[in-house]
Amino acid sequence: MASRPQPESLWRAMAARVPVMDAPVSTGAPLARDIDVEVAIIGAGYSGLSAAYALQKRGVECAVLDANPVGWGASGRNGGVVSSKFRLSFPAIAGAHGIDVAKRMHRLAHDGVRAVEAFIDEFKLTRVQFEHTGSLRCAHTERALSSICAEADWVRTMLGDASMTVQSHAQVQHETGAKGFVGGVLSADAGTILPLEYVRGIAAGLTTRGVPIYEATPVIDMARAQDGRVLLRAPGGAVRAKQVIVATNAYSNLTDATASYHRELVPFRSAMIATAPLSPELDSQLMVHRRSYTETRRMMKWFRKVDGRVLFGGRDAFGKEGEPTGFDALQRAMVALFPQLKDVAVEYRWSGYVGMTFNALPHVGRSDDATTFCLGYNGTGVAMASLIGQHAAALALGDKAELAMLAQDGLRPVPFHALRAPGVRLVAAWYQFLDAVGA
Ligand SMILES: Cc1cc2nc3c(=O)[nH]c(=O)nc-3n(C[C@H](O)[C@H](O)[C@H](O)COP(=O)(O)OP(=O)(O)OC[C@H]3O[C@@H](n4cnc5c(N)ncnc54)[C@H](O)[C@@H]3O)c2cc1C
Repeated sequence: MASRPQPESLWRAMAARVPVMDAPVSTGAPLARDIDVEVAIIGAGYSGLSAAYALQKRGVECAVLDANPVGWGASGRNGGVVSSKFRLSFPAIAGAHGIDVAKRMHRLAHDGVRAVEAFIDEFKLTRVQFEHTGSLRCAHTERALSSICAEADWVRTMLGDASMTVQSHAQVQHETGAKGFVGGVLSADAGTILPLEYVRGIAAGLTTRGVPIYEATPVIDMARAQDGRVLLRAPGGAVRAKQVIVATNAYSNLTDATASYHRELVPFRSAMIATAPLSPELDSQLMVHRRSYTETRRMMKWFRKVDGRVLFGGRDAFGKEGEPTGFDALQRAMVALFPQLKDVAVEYRWSGYVGMTFNALPHVGRSDDATTFCLGYNGTGVAMASLIGQHAAALALGDKAELAMLAQDGLRPVPFHALRAPGVRLVAAWYQFLDAVGA
């Protein structure tokens, strides 16, 4: 299985503009011999690298293996939105599991943002361009607005968190430049980054500290040796480890060795487009506070401004990777929200897989006494995977980790996993219908 290059995204183009002298230190060559480590990590995205970081901090010898270049998966392709939320709302969590669990989940969500900040500080990742500008959720109907306002009110009263504030119709219209929203809720503890710079920066920092990262190294077999150790086989060599952390998320089906982790998830294709640079006039009208923006529709779209361009993304359940249909639909959705962009060209189009789970929460746990997994961030993995990978490292070392509803004992494959693709299409079509009729 040949290693694949990063997709041709805006992130890759921006990274290529940096003078070679200033680019992050290049990381791993492929594994070309047999090695022994305490902990082997499969996957060099945010999850795997944050696990390696936590292990290195504790002086535990580890190695990271990836079939592709660092950040080739979702970590190098995402929207770069750093958010302090789960897909499941805190009132819903409290309703089902009680207020104490909701408080612990709320803490984890904000700890995720702190984890991103800590990486940026510790590895001096200035090229990541972190901006703690908040995230504005824009309501597309009055009903949706009352629902998100009620949630903000609940978070303030029950969790003592005043970082969510209601924004009027006029405020949302002025700051986004879009006309279709009736109001919104601003979450202050959120921000934006350049995602590929972030993952590469962490990898470079780890390399400097002596953590080996082997790229172009697919794990093609995972077995137990007679001494209880795990034996990972890659084309160029084998890794013998006491513990393994599987951090392959929505790309776990790259080889059979990790495919059982794929059955935990419903992978959902998520697509992004980036316009040509805006004129100064448009730049002064759109997204003036440089936050990230989401909307309340079920088939949610999100947008932000970066590199003087509009970046617009959404879940695209219909097209296959690289097919133009999904991107064209995204561009139509963008122009519907921002008619000002009608004549602005789209210069970049790319997509990747988001790992969705049935309970809308990440899953972290052990699949056996020598294997730990963390996956299923449901589209909020920039902050969450930066944190959860570190908890996975603690679990692999036999520690207890405070994971509230994220802890999972063993793998629980999604029922009827083979039918996931038509299932996703059905649900998406239903959601699009509900959005279209304003339900
Ligand atoms: C288009 C898009 C937009 C998104 N936008 C946002 C956003 O704005 N904010 C947010 O918080 N989240 C967002 N997400 C989600 C976020 O990117 C992910 O949750 C996060 O990157 C997951 O990181 P990870 O390290 O777990 O997995 P990944 O980054 O996907 O890494 C998995 C790695 O495992 C490797 N691998 C798989 N199998 C093997 C094997 N057998 N052997 C060796 N290597 C293997 C792959 O090559 C890959 O590099 C988005 C995702 C996508 C796709």
